[in-house]
Amino acid sequence: MNVTPNALCFGDGLPGAGAPCHVTLSADGLRLIPLEGSQLAEESVAFAALTVASGGLDHDQLVVSWMTGGSTCTLYLKDPAMIVAFRRTAPSGLTASLERAADHVRRARHSHRLFWGSAAGIVVGLGLLIWFGSDLIVEWAVARIPIEWEQTLGATIYQDALSKETVLKEGREVDAVQEMTQRMTDKILHNPYKFQVSVVQSPVVNAFALPGGYVVVFTGLLKKAESGEEVAGVLSHELNHVLQRHGLERMVKTLGLAAVISIVVGDQRGLIGLAKELGMNLATLKFGREQETEADVTGIRLLSDARIAPEGMIGFFERLSEKGQARVELFSTHPMSAARAERLKVELAALPKRSPEPFTFEWKSVQESLAKSEFNK
Ligand SMILES: [Zn+2]
Repeated sequence: MNVTPNALCFGDGLPGAGAPCHVTLSADGLRLIPLEGSQLAEESVAFAALTVASGGLDHDQLVVSWMTGGSTCTLYLKDPAMIVAFRRTAPSGLTASLERAADHVRRARHSHRLFWGSAAGIVVGLGLLIWFGSDLIVEWAVARIPIEWEQTLGATIYQDALSKETVLKEGREVDAVQEMTQRMTDKILHNPYKFQVSVVQSPVVNAFALPGGYVVVFTGLLKKAESGEEVAGVLSHELNHVLQRHGLERMVKTLGLAAVISIVVGDQRGLIGLAKELGMNLATLKFGREQETEADVTGIRLLSDARIAPEGMIGFFERLSEKGQARVELFSTHPMSAARAERLKVELAALPKRSPEPFTFEWKSVQESLAKSEFNK
């Protein structure tokens, strides 16, 4: 079965780093659903057979154990919604020990704060060493990065990346890009970011997104586009990389354990320092195949919500990836594949049919303005 993991399972015969799995709750217990290809077996366990404790650095994880076939199986649940659901569904006798454990930890922490901090640090550090390489730990660390950190980080990299570039401040191309951005950001629910989309004078056919909501589009890409809808398609994809924190995930993965420790101990400067060592590379960080598909799928939905014809996105990607266009920088950081194009088409076919609303600008006059700014350079 194809399920998304929401827990890690430890036990005899399982990998030392734990086996990711999916857990669901019912009135009488939990059900463990293994991922495809996992050594785990599907299993239902009654609440009566469980013991629970709190775990994780902040004791915000739920550790559930039971005996199965003569050995202990232990589950780590970290999804807060899942933990709340568990506390509500499980008999109070079971969760009482959990509340006691949490209380005990609070008291212990109070009197042995320093000791606890360093001990937990060592345990977490060792745990991370084992767990590292698993995407779960990257997600776990990224989820701990506050939005304000992300903005500081993005702003720092943005300034470095554009210090030698010409950022266009006015002109029809800038107005057009702002209009597209506004149409889309108006439709994003629960948007924690203040997006800033800049147009940079450069023949490079590219656009990129930085953590915190900084998006850059080059005039080279605008020139290649045959309509505003095509550009909006690229922007929507980039906005969704930001919303899903893909840049941060890549960064934590690339910087490794040092980044995770900076996050865990709350050392923002350390993290920014590490990122700075990485320098411009963050702007040219290559996304993974799954991240590309995710940004495509949510990107095309956002276009549809904003009533921007989503066909432009697919058409543009296809045209750019045709032969003879081999050197399109956009695809060096956002690798295009046949599977990606197919997925986009499937997604497009599944979208509700909405009549698109045109932009207020004429794409032809945007192109004229682009040609002029190039000429005046
Ligand atoms: Zn991408």
